Order: sequence, then C-alpha cells, then structure tokens
Amino acid sequence: MLTENLHEVQERIIRACQKVGRDPKEITLIAVSKTKPVEMLHEVYQAGIREFGENKVQELTAKEETMPTDIHWHMIGHLQTNKIKYIVDKVTLIHSVDSVKLAEAIDKEARKKNVVCDILLEVNVAEEESKFGFSLENVIPALDTLKGLSNIRIRGLMTIAPYVKNPEENRPVFSALRKLSVDIAEKNIDNISVDILSMGMTNDFEVAIEEGATMVRVGTAIFGERQYLI
Ligand SMILES: *Cc1c(COP(=O)(O)O)cnc(C)c1O
Repeated sequence: MLTENLHEVQERIIRACQKVGRDPKEITLIAVSKTKPVEMLHEVYQAGIREFGENKVQELTAKEETMPTDIHWHMIGHLQTNKIKYIVDKVTLIHSVDSVKLAEAIDKEARKKNVVCDILLEVNVAEEESKFGFSLENVIPALDTLKGLSNIRIRGLMTIAPYVKNPEENRPVFSALRKLSVDIAEKNIDNISVDILSMGMTNDFEVAIEEGATMVRVGTAIFGERQYLI
C-alpha cells in the first residue's frame, strides 16, 4: 500500500517536472514520517527512500537509533535551543532555522561536536501568526550575522505555505521564496548558498515544483492521514 502511494507521488513529481521542463533528478522527495511507526518507515525504506523528515527531536532520535544507518534525517519542525545537542550531528539538514538566535545556538553546539551543520532558513512568506520563521524582508539583513558562523552552512530556504483548498493559491508564496533565493545568490556571500528550496507538501507540491522547489516534504500522500493522540 505505502509502496503504491509512494510510486504515485513519484509519478506526480515527474509530471510536474515535465510540465515546466525540469529534470525530476533536481527534486529530492523527503518522506515525512512524523507520528508514524517504524514499521511504516521500513516499508518506504524498502521501496528505496533514504530521506526522512521528522518534526520532533525525541521522535527523530528514537527512529534514528533503530533504522538503517544510510538514512538521511531531516529536521523540519520548530527546534528549541536546549534540544539542538541531541540532533546536530545526526541530521543531514535542519530545514527549520527560524531566527538568528537559533542559528547561533546551532553553530555553538556544532562547534562543540566538531561538525559543520547544514541548515535552511525558514521563511514565513505568508506572515501567518501561527507559524515560525523569518519574514521575507528580514532574511537578507540577517545574513550579515549568519555569514560569520563557521559551524553552520546555509544551503537554502524553506517555507511552509498556508493550508489552502486550491494549491494554486500558494503559487505566489512559492515564487516569492524563489525570488528571494535569486536575490541572495546575486550577493555572492561566502559560506551562504541557496541551491536548496524546500517547499511543497502533500497538498501543493506540484505547484511548488513548478515554481522551483528542489526538496518537497510529503507526509500524508505517502503514509496516510496522521492521528494525533492527546
Ligand atoms: C507535517 C509536515 C509536512 C508534511 O505534510 P503533509 O501535508 O502530510 O504532506 C511537511 N513539512 C512540514 C514542516 C511538516 O511539519
């Protein structure tokens, strides 16, 4: 079942790429496995997926310990500074760096562990109250501080678009993030690259790909609806 879901998502990625003349190899599919049991992750792993996304530190580290070691783990959820130490040397990429303060704290923990941590800056493009992230205008001013942090490496930008019925409504959000990445690239700042655009989820990943996404984070379309126990 999950394998079929996965193949369907992969087909949709290919079709979105064809629509705008992109090579599907440019797109990394991250299977967002939050709240799902490891049995389900194994099934998706067997089908060839090596990129998994989690949004909670404890869940990520617990799964990381039991799953095969060739998996790349992506931290996609809001990160508290006191928990950075548990993941800084375990994750491939932290997508959810939403403040200069957090970036500085990651840099500090990465230095202690003698690693360089790849990160994305999360941008709250739609300025939703409920979401974390830099506003569009605050990203470039922040780079002045961020470029000096030698144990983090900025690889690009991430956004979580609003929940909308019609994914077309999010097209301006994705194109704004893409435009910001072009503006940053033109500045040619040492230690800062913007090759990665992490945008698009189950509801809107095709539009995101059309607007330049290089990573899509897909949960529900692969694993099914999540159930939250409170
Ligand atoms: C849960 C989550 C996703 C996946 O959402 P789906 O709609 O299930 O595909 C992607 N990105 C982030 C940051 C998430 O928290």
